Amino acid sequence: MKAVLFKNGLRLVDDYPEPSLKQGEALVRVNMAGVCGTDLEIIKGYRGFEGVIGHEFCGVVEAVKAKSPAGNRPEGSLVPVGTRVVAEINCGCSWCEYCRHGIKNHCLNRTVIGIAGREGCMAEYVAVPLENLYPVPDEATDEEAIFTEPLAAAFEIMEQVCLKPSDRVAVLGDGRLGILSALVLNLTRADVNLVGKHSQKLAVASDQKVKTILLENLFAQKEAYEKNYDLVVEATGSLDGFELACALVKPRGKIVLKSTTSGKAELSLTQLVVNEITAVGSRCGPFAPALRALEEKAIDVRPMISGRYKFEQALKAFELCKSGDFLKMLIDFR
Ligand SMILES: [Zn+2]
Ligand SMILES: [Zn+2]
Repeated sequence: MKAVLFKNGLRLVDDYPEPSLKQGEALVRVNMAGVCGTDLEIIKGYRGFEGVIGHEFCGVVEAVKAKSPAGNRPEGSLVPVGTRVVAEINCGCSWCEYCRHGIKNHCLNRTVIGIAGREGCMAEYVAVPLENLYPVPDEATDEEAIFTEPLAAAFEIMEQVCLKPSDRVAVLGDGRLGILSALVLNLTRADVNLVGKHSQKLAVASDQKVKTILLENLFAQKEAYEKNYDLVVEATGSLDGFELACALVKPRGKIVLKSTTSGKAELSLTQLVVNEITAVGSRCGPFAPALRALEEKAIDVRPMISGRYKFEQALKAFELCKSGDFLKMLIDFR
C-alpha cells in the first residue's frame, strides 16, 4: 500500500505491507489525514518513532476482527463495516490500573497511533482498536472530521477546570490548538481573549466572535493585562509562554498548560506559590463532544485548512508546514 514512512528520513513508499489485524481491531481505509505539529516533531526525532507517520485522519471501516467469539455480542458491532470513522490515538492495554479506571490515555503500556509503538494513518490503511473508533456524523465532511483530535484536546480543558461564565480567560498562542481552545471556551460565554503574534491567524477566531489581542499590543501595555485573568491557557508551543501565563493570571487563578515543548524552561515557581496559582497539564481529550460540536456546526474549522495535497505531494505538504505559517495541511488518500 501507499504510505508516508518515517525511517531514515521521511519518504513515500507504495509497497508497504497492509496492516494485519489483531483481535479487537478494525482495518480502516484512510480518506484523508492531517499533518500535526507532533508529526513535525517526530521527523526531528521526537520519541524515536519509526514507521508510518500520522495520527489525525478520517476513514471508512473496511474489516473488523472482533474480540469475542461469534455468538457473544462482538465488540465490533458498534462500528460496522462501511462506517465513516475517526479514532482516538491512545491505545490502552485494557488490564493495567489506568485502563481499568477508564484512563487509557495514561495506560502504562499504551501505544499511540503514529507516535509510539503503532503504525500511523498516513497510508491507504490503518489498524485501530475497535474501542478507539467514533462514527463521524453525516454533517461533518472528511476535512472537518480531521479536526476531531485537536478539537478534543481543546475540550479537555473543560474536563479539567471549572469555568464560570463570568470568568475572564486568556488563551496564549494563535496556532491551531490555541485557536481551537479559544473557540471551545467561547461556547461557555466566558470572556475569552486569544493572544497571538499573527493578525491573520487571530482573524480565524475573531471571525467567530472571539476577542483577540496582538502580543505586541499586550506587551506595550502589560500592566493593564497583568493579574487580569481567572484562567490562562498556555498553547504557544514555546518556553516563554509559561512565564507570560504566570504574569497574566489572577491570584488563585488557574493555568492550563497545553504546549509539549521539548526544551527545558528555567522556571521561577515563587509566583505560583505566593499567588496560589493552580497549574494543570493537559493532553488529548474527549472525542464525543468534539464530534457533537462539528455536527452542530458550533465551531467552524474550515478556515483553518491551509491546503490539500494528494499522497504523491505529501512531502511537499510537510516541507511547507515547517515554515509554521500554516494551520492545517491535509493529505488526500481518496
Ligand atoms: Zn495531532
Ligand atoms: Zn493499560
